[in-house]
Amino acid sequence: MSNASTLVWFRQDLRLADNPALDAALASEHIIPIYIVPPEGSDEGRDGFLRGGASRWWLHHSLTALDRDLRARGSRLIVRRGEPTEVLAQLAAESDATAVHWNRRLEPAGIATDRAVKQSLREQGLPVQSFAGNYLHEPWNVLNKQGAPYKVFTPYWKALLAEGIDLPVLPDPEPLPAVDEAIAGESIDSLGLLPGLDWADGFADWWAPGEAGAWDRFESFLDDVSRYHETRNRLDLDGTSRLSPHLHFGEISPRQVVARVRSEYPDALDDKGTEHFLREVGWREFGANLLYHFPQTETDNLDARFDHLPWRNDPDHIVAWQRGQTGIPVIDAAMRALWATGWMHNRARMIVASFLTKNCLVDWRIGADWFMDTLVDADLPSNTAGWQWVAGTGADAAPYFRIFNPVLQGEKFDPDGAFIRRWVPELAELPDKALFAPWEAKPDTLARAGVSLGETYPEPIVDLKTSRERALEAFQRIKDYE
Ligand code: FAD
Repeated sequence: MSNASTLVWFRQDLRLADNPALDAALASEHIIPIYIVPPEGSDEGRDGFLRGGASRWWLHHSLTALDRDLRARGSRLIVRRGEPTEVLAQLAAESDATAVHWNRRLEPAGIATDRAVKQSLREQGLPVQSFAGNYLHEPWNVLNKQGAPYKVFTPYWKALLAEGIDLPVLPDPEPLPAVDEAIAGESIDSLGLLPGLDWADGFADWWAPGEAGAWDRFESFLDDVSRYHETRNRLDLDGTSRLSPHLHFGEISPRQVVARVRSEYPDALDDKGTEHFLREVGWREFGANLLYHFPQTETDNLDARFDHLPWRNDPDHIVAWQRGQTGIPVIDAAMRALWATGWMHNRARMIVASFLTKNCLVDWRIGADWFMDTLVDADLPSNTAGWQWVAGTGADAAPYFRIFNPVLQGEKFDPDGAFIRRWVPELAELPDKALFAPWEAKPDTLARAGVSLGETYPEPIVDLKTSRERALEAFQRIKDYE
C-alpha cells in the first residue's frame, strides 16, 4: 500500500461494492470519499440528477445511506457544494491527495463535466482516472460491423450478449481508512434536497434508497423472477423488480444484477422469465447507447419528420393528465400512482405516454419533463428513449399509427380492476364492466356506485375514437417529409 491519498468522487454510483473507482483507490493509504452538489444549472446537475423533485428526495436518502455504510467501515462521506473542478482541486490541496478517481457518467452533460474536470485537474498536475461503473458495456464498445451504433434493439442485444454480460464483480471493501478529522464537509440535511411540501412524504412507504435497500428489493424479487415473463405487464401485480431507481443512482450495478441472477439460475438466458428480465436490463443499456450516439435526441426527434407534427399542447389537457383527472380511469390511476409513489409501471408508462402524445397531441417533451420531475428513477437515457419510442419519433419506435386504447389496455392488464380501484377510489364501487369506461355505463349503474360524471369523477377530456383519428390524420400529413 502506498501512503498516497486518493479522492473518490461519488456521482451516479452510490455504492461501495463493485465500485471500480473505489476499488482502485484501495491501494492508497488514505481515501477521501466525496460527493459534490453542483451549482444550479451546471452541467453536472442536469440530466435528472438534481433536475427533478423526486430524484432529489431519493438523493438525500441515498447519500445518507452511503455515509452510514462508509461510517460502518471506518470512513465517512465528505459533502461539498460547488463546481466539481474547484471542489476537487481544493480538497486535493487540503488533503495532499495525489489522485482523483470516479466512475464515468454517460449522459451528454455528465460527459461534458468529465471532460472539463479531467482536463483542468490534469493541467493542475493532479492525476485523474475514470472508470466504467454504471453499465455492462460502454456505448463506444458495442457497434455493428460497419462501426456504426445500433438503432434497433434486437441486434443490439445480440451484440451485447456477444460482448459478454457475465462480468467480474468487485467485492465490498471492508474496512476503509478513516478520513482525517480536519477535513470538513456539509451535512446532508443542509443541502435542502427534500421537497418543501409534503408531496414526497409517502415515498418512504415504498422505497428504501441505498445499497442495502437495493439488495433487499432485488433478493425478494429473485424469488419470482422465473414468472417475470407472465407477470411483468400486469398493473395489479408486483411482477417487476422495481430496481430502476436503485440502478439509476448506482446503488446496485448491472454487473451485480446479472451475476446474481446467473448464480441462482445458471441457465438464465434459456429460461423465459430470467431471459426476459435480463433483456430488460439490456434495454437500459440500449437507452444509454442511443443517447450517447445521438445526444441531440435529448431534445430533438430522432425521426425529423415529426418536427412538422402539429402538436396541440392544450394546457387543460396537460394539467388533467398530470393530476390524474383525464376521466380515463387507467390513465388517472397511473398518474396518481406516480404522484404518490414516485414510480410507474412500464406498461402504465406506455399507456399514459401514448394517450398524451397521440390522443391529446401533446409534445412528448412535455410528458418527458413531467416524468423527469416526478419519477424517483428519472433517468435521461431511459426516459428519452421511452418517450420517443411511444411517440413514434425515436429509434426502433412503436409505429405512429399504433395507438394504445387505454380501455382495452386496462381490461387486459388490470383484469379485476384492482389497480384502478386502488388509485381512483371514487370509482371503486363500479362493477368491472363499467370500471374501464365509466362514460359508457348506464346512469343507474353509475348512481348505484355513487359516481356522477363531471362531479365526483371527470368526463373524459377527449373522445378516444375521434382523438385517435385526429392523431392518424396528423401523421398522414407528415409522413412524406424527408
Ligand atoms: P423491471 O421490469 O424489473 O426491469 C429491470 C430493469 O431493467 C429496470 O429496473 C430498468 O433499469 C431496466 N428496464 C426495464 N425496462 C426498461 C425499458 N423499457 N427501458 C430502459 N430500461 C428498462 N426507466 C427508467 O429507469 N427511468 C426513466 O426515467 C424511464 N422513463 C420511461 C418513460 C417511458 C415513457 C417509458 C415507456 C419507459 C421508461 N422507463 C424508464 C423504462 C421502464 O419503464 C422502467 O425502467 C421500468 O418500469 C422500471 O421498473 P422495474 O425496475 O420494475 O423494471
